[in-house]
Amino acid sequence: MGKIVIIGCGGVASVAIQKCAMHAEVFEEICIASRTKSKCDDLKNKLEGKTKAVITTAHVDADHVDEVAALLMKEKPAAVLNLALPYQDLAIMEACLKCGVDYIDTANYEAEDTEDPQWRAVYEKRCKEAGFTAYFDYSWQWAYRERFREAGITALLGSGFDPGVTSVFTAYAMKHYFDEIHTIDILDCNGGDHGYPFATNFNPEINLREVSANGSYWENGHWVETKPMEIKREYDFPQVGKKDMYLLHHEEIESLALNVPGVKRIRFFMTFGESYLTHMSCLENVGMLSTVPIDFDGKEIVPIQFLKALLPDPASLGPRTVGKTNIGCIFSGIKDGREKSIYIYNVCDHQECYKEVGSQAISYTTGVPAMIGAMLVMTGIWKKPGVFNVEEFDPDPFMEALNTWGLPWAVEDNPAKVDTEL
Ligand code: NDP
Repeated sequence: MGKIVIIGCGGVASVAIQKCAMHAEVFEEICIASRTKSKCDDLKNKLEGKTKAVITTAHVDADHVDEVAALLMKEKPAAVLNLALPYQDLAIMEACLKCGVDYIDTANYEAEDTEDPQWRAVYEKRCKEAGFTAYFDYSWQWAYRERFREAGITALLGSGFDPGVTSVFTAYAMKHYFDEIHTIDILDCNGGDHGYPFATNFNPEINLREVSANGSYWENGHWVETKPMEIKREYDFPQVGKKDMYLLHHEEIESLALNVPGVKRIRFFMTFGESYLTHMSCLENVGMLSTVPIDFDGKEIVPIQFLKALLPDPASLGPRTVGKTNIGCIFSGIKDGREKSIYIYNVCDHQECYKEVGSQAISYTTGVPAMIGAMLVMTGIWKKPGVFNVEEFDPDPFMEALNTWGLPWAVEDNPAKVDTEL
C-alpha cells in the first residue's frame, strides 16, 4: 500500500520495524533513518530475506527540518513514523507539512534545552495557566491542527502503549461499556526483572526526566500537583501479583481530560522497585539527572547524557529480562443508570517478546501500537486532515489489531479499586 519512513532505530523502533516488515502488504517499502546510518543498516541486515518489504536506510538528523524534508522529498513516503526522541517532534511535523506526508509518533514534544529563554517564557506561562509543571505537554503539537487540516494531512499523536493503547482502551470503554465515564486510573506495571541494580527500560534521559518530575492528576476540571513519588499505592495485578506503584504526571491525562466528556478524575500510576527509586534519588541528589551543560576539564557535558552513556542500553535488556508487564485502565461510571467499573488491560511476557523480536516487553508494548497506528493511517482507516490523539478515532480496528499483532487484551468486571484517599 505504500512506503513508510521510520525515524529512529532504537529499542522501540527495532520492534516497530520488525512488525512493519511482517506486514508487507501495507508497508511495501520501509526506509529506516537516524543520525547513525550503521545502526539502521544493522536492523536492515537482520530482516534481509525474512520479509517481502523493500528495506532501505538513510542518514538524517531530525533536529533539522530541512534534512528531514530533503529525505521526504527523495523517498516520497505515504507516512513518517517518528520513533526518535520527543525533542524532534516539531521538526519532523514541520517537514511533513512541507512535503504533504502523514505523521505518527509515540511521545509528545519536550524541549531538550529547558534553559532556552524563549521556551522557558512559554513554559512558565503554561505552568501558571494550566497548573502543571511537566516539561512536556501537547500545546506545541496541538498548535499544528489548523495547518495540518489545511494541508489535508493527518498527524496521529501518541500511538505507543501509554499514551496510545491506554487512550484506545478509554475510547473503547466509552463506546461499548459506559454512558458516562467518571474516573480513570491508568496503571502501568512492569513486573519484569533484568538483574541490574539500576537500568531504564526505554531511553534513560526521557524516562528519568519523566519519573523525577512532580506528579499530578486531573480532578474536577483542574490539575492537582504532587511532589515526585509522593503518592504510593499497592495493587494486586492479574498475572503479576502485588506491586508498589506511584502517582506520576503522564501525557495522556492531558488529552483524555479534553476528550472524555464529563470525566471527574484521571490518575496515572507506575510501579517501581526500591532499588530503582534509591538509585534515582541518589543520582538526582548529586546532579546526575541535570540537563544543563557543565564544563568538565574544558569540555561541555550534559550530566544526564553522560549518565545515559554509563547505563545499560535499554535495547540490550531483552535477553536478561524475565517476568511480565500488566498495563491497563480501571474505568468507573454509569451504564443504563447503574454504576459499574471495569479494568481493561494487556499482559505481556518479556521472554516471549524476546523470542519473537529480540526485545524486552517495554519496547514491544510501544513498538507494536506504533506499527498499528501507522497501519491505520496508511490504509486510510484512521485518516482525516488535522492533528489528533488516538482516542479521537474509532477504537474498534485498533483493538482488533492489538489481538492480531501480539498484544491481546482482557476486560475484568468489578476490579479492585485504587484507594482514593490522597
Ligand atoms: P532510544 O534511545 O532507544 O532510541 C532513540 C532513537 O532516536 C535512536 O535510534 C536515535 O538514533 C534516534 N535519534 C535521536 N536523536 C535523533 C535525531 N536528532 N535525528 C534522528 N534520529 C535521532 O529510545 P526508545 O526507542 O526507547 O524510545 C523511542 C521513543 O519512544 C521516545 O520518544 C520515547 O519517549 C517513546 N516511548 C513511548 C512510549 C509509549 O508508551 N508511548 C513508551 C516508551 C518509549 P541516532 O542516535 O542514530 O540518531
